[in-house]
Amino acid sequence: MTIRAMDVSWMDNAKCTKSNAELFSSPYREPYSDRRDREFQAKRICGMCAVQAACLDYALNSGRVDIGDDTIWGGQTGTERKRTRSGAKRSRRAG
Ligand code: SF4
Repeated sequence: MTIRAMDVSWMDNAKCTKSNAELFSSPYREPYSDRRDREFQAKRICGMCAVQAACLDYALNSGRVDIGDDTIWGGQTGTERKRTRSGAKRSRRAG
């Protein structure tokens, strides 16, 4: 079996590594209202990020699609990425 390394050169242009990195993952026992506000701010940054598509593609193809994974990648939580991936699979099956 051959394992190919994924291209992560896009990370050099990630907006989240330059500022506010703490917005992208949930602290332990974060209250719901804090979480909602934090995710809103993180997703706004993702919306202005030049590499959002590459980031989301990376997350979808590197196993970061778990319900309960609160880390924001490509403007989506793990739960949202799981839905995105399920929708893509359904579309492929439908032809
Ligand atoms: S899309 Fe969001 S999580 Fe991904 S690199 Fe850009 S700012 Fe970071």
